[in-house]
Amino acid sequence: MMRVRTASAAETRELGKAIEPLLGPGDVLLLSGDLGAGKTTFLQGLGAALGVAARITSPTFTLAHTYEGRLRVHHLDLYRLRSPDELLDLDLADLLGDEESIVVVEWEELLAGDLPPDFLRIRLELGTEDDAPETRWLGFEAFGPSWTRRFPRLLSLLRRPARD
Ligand code: ADP
Ligand code: MG
Repeated sequence: MMRVRTASAAETRELGKAIEPLLGPGDVLLLSGDLGAGKTTFLQGLGAALGVAARITSPTFTLAHTYEGRLRVHHLDLYRLRSPDELLDLDLADLLGDEESIVVVEWEELLAGDLPPDFLRIRLELGTEDDAPETRWLGFEAFGPSWTRRFPRLLSLLRRPARD
């Protein structure tokens, strides 16, 4: 587990950009953290590095949105999930099992245990009262052989975030 502090939305986007070289088809990123913690902001940085031209936002009426870039990105935001049945309507298993795309899930807590064998978990937290107001903490944790193997490279990318 690696924790990184950012001081602004721009810095959180930089972290999203920084990890892009590690990503390949079939990768799953599971993001957790409260509303406003910066999950979508992180994905915006990653999307920019992947060459996604569309503006990445939190889907308002749909739980999933697909973006085209160097790799296709399925963006799931489960915040508005009303019942586990909606995960079936979403064909969640098909999305998570799409070996040709990257899958990024916001509010992964709501996946209710249906986790893929390999994933990178990113927990975003607001800073405490001791931190500056725009502080966010991002915790990165690898699960499964593929992400465990890449974790040392992830650490070095996070220590030297890409700059514009
Ligand atoms: P989430 O998707 O987790 O609900 P968003 O990324 O949509 O969160 O929103 C995060 C909000 O917090 C944005 O308005 C962003 O500008 C602001 N913000 C302030 N500081 C940071 C930071 N360090 N990292 C990310 N976002 C930040
Ligand atoms: Mg969001």
